[in-house]
Amino acid sequence: MTFDELGLAPEVLKAVSETGYTEPTPIQAQAIPHVLAGRDVLGIAQTGTGKTASFTLPMIDKLSRGRARARMPRSLILEPTRELAAQVAENFETYGKYNKLSMALLIGGVSFGDQEKKLDRGVDVLIATPGRLLDHCNRGKVLLTGVQILVIDEADRMLDMGFIPDIEEICKKLPFTRQTLFFSATMPPEIQRLTDTFLHNPERIEV
Ligand code: AMP
Repeated sequence: MTFDELGLAPEVLKAVSETGYTEPTPIQAQAIPHVLAGRDVLGIAQTGTGKTASFTLPMIDKLSRGRARARMPRSLILEPTRELAAQVAENFETYGKYNKLSMALLIGGVSFGDQEKKLDRGVDVLIATPGRLLDHCNRGKVLLTGVQILVIDEADRMLDMGFIPDIEEICKKLPFTRQTLFFSATMPPEIQRLTDTFLHNPERIEV
């Protein structure tokens, strides 16, 4: 299997080839076509499997066919820690270097001011930790009603860190009709319950 066979746009393929990756990892090969087709995905995969590219590459592809609007992101990636959020943001910039998309990283420990300026300028994708995102929502600085693609990454870590109530609150602010991509390394019963609520007829991929 090659990246060319997955259905990604030429700009995305160019950025991927410049990273030096020669072939997609199993989660990428299995998930990317379904994400491009608009399906919900339940990915059971650990860090190190290449799961970040399995959602960022098709997301970049899909968002390229639309325009950023102030304070109304078109997609949202939730991460349990600042470090993971920053890593995903770095990957997003690498893979999206030929697509003119705007991204805001909303994590704690950084002033609200710079994050708000970015939101005002218009955002295609938000990469956020749950607490900081809710702070911005409560300050009226971001509206989630335009989110078409939601990624919940590292769901089992979110559970361990006590973020599930925050995630449920965030999900109430999202449109009911959207695409959801949900990743977890393990599937304890609480996580299984969440997938039943958040995902609609998902493609289940286990690597
Ligand atoms: P992740 O599981 O998303 O944290 O990715 C783990 C590591 O694998 C990261 O350093 C990526 O840069 C790298 N990676 C992702 N996809 C590929 C690929 N198709 N070929 C080689 N390395 C990759």
